[in-house]
Amino acid sequence: MTGTLTIVGLGPGAPEMTTPAVSRALRDATDLVGYETYLARVPAVSPEQVRHGSDNRAEIERAKHALRLAAEGRRVVVVSSGDPGVFAMAAAVFEAIETGEPLWRTLDVRVQPGVTAMLAAAALAGAPLGADFCAISLSDNLKSWATIERRLEAAARGDFVIALYNPASRARPDQLQRALKLLRQWKEDRTVVLFVHAAGTPDARLIVTDLAAASGVIADMRTLVVIGSDRTRLIPREGIAPWVYTPRSEATPT
Ligand code: SAH
Repeated sequence: MTGTLTIVGLGPGAPEMTTPAVSRALRDATDLVGYETYLARVPAVSPEQVRHGSDNRAEIERAKHALRLAAEGRRVVVVSSGDPGVFAMAAAVFEAIETGEPLWRTLDVRVQPGVTAMLAAAALAGAPLGADFCAISLSDNLKSWATIERRLEAAARGDFVIALYNPASRARPDQLQRALKLLRQWKEDRTVVLFVHAAGTPDARLIVTDLAAASGVIADMRTLVVIGSDRTRLIPREGIAPWVYTPRSEATPT
């Protein structure tokens, strides 16, 4: 038997947002590797399937462990939330392959996409990502805060819609505030800002605000923040949250 390694994304939370291809890979796996919290979302299939849970931080170690298991002939699935290529395990596995055993390059490695948080969050609000957008992680675990500031400024100057992943954690309580302060230097106070908590799950919560008021809103580790472009707008509705969209055409009147 030759081993395989499939890197999957479970989607944002609700089981129906996991693709059938990912569910099949999970069912067929002999071994599941991932952060405990994500493994807990995977339904048990058989007592023989082995779960290798780990801490969220040890990404490269976890990737190497998965590659060693695949090299032994196991059918390994590495689990991420959302999409595995978006601020998640797929890049860690390729980094481990690039720097590790030559044999690992011959393994059957596949990536199965998932619904990333940004897409589930956007769908809840309407179509805020309707025109050019970018995604920036505010976590400075793997890059410097100076890099984050440089990218925020470039995104603001380019008038992209900006999806902010990892806006907050217990270790970094004030980074979102610093990011919002920087963005206020480049963008108007009336810029639409969305806070989407637990998108794509039954606990989903959407807050629609603007850049002037955004610093009063709390974000946690399951929140995605979307900063609109200059053209992102609201369609008010009586008694319920407005629709939010970014027109695709520059010709749409403001
Ligand atoms: N690979 C994941 C992202 C991992 S980074 C994906 O593609 O979605 C973790 C960050 O993603 C969180 O801090 C949060 O900003 C965002 N996130 C993940 N799931 C989310 C959800 N259901 N709702 C809102 N944001 C979410």
